[in-house]
Amino acid sequence: RAEVLPESDPAAVALGYKADASKVDVKKWPTYAKDRLCANCQLYAGKSTDPMAPCGAFGGKQVSAKGWCAAWVKKA
Ligand code: SF4
Repeated sequence: RAEVLPESDPAAVALGYKADASKVDVKKWPTYAKDRLCANCQLYAGKSTDPMAPCGAFGGKQVSAKGWCAAWVKKA
């Protein structure tokens, strides 16, 4: 099982990752929107119902389904 991405990871900080997307600073990260979550991101390597899954933007470390970061891309 892959390592969980800490919010303090420099790569996570650089992309504004929050495990709880409601904590995203919208002034700093204007591309965040409420319906944008790891669970519906193209880079979330799991089912949308999985609570955590590896993320391609962070070397496969696990991110939270309810999270968000600036690399979010709508799942095709
Ligand atoms: Fe979540 Fe997508 Fe960012 Fe990965 S790239 S942390 S799945 S929003």
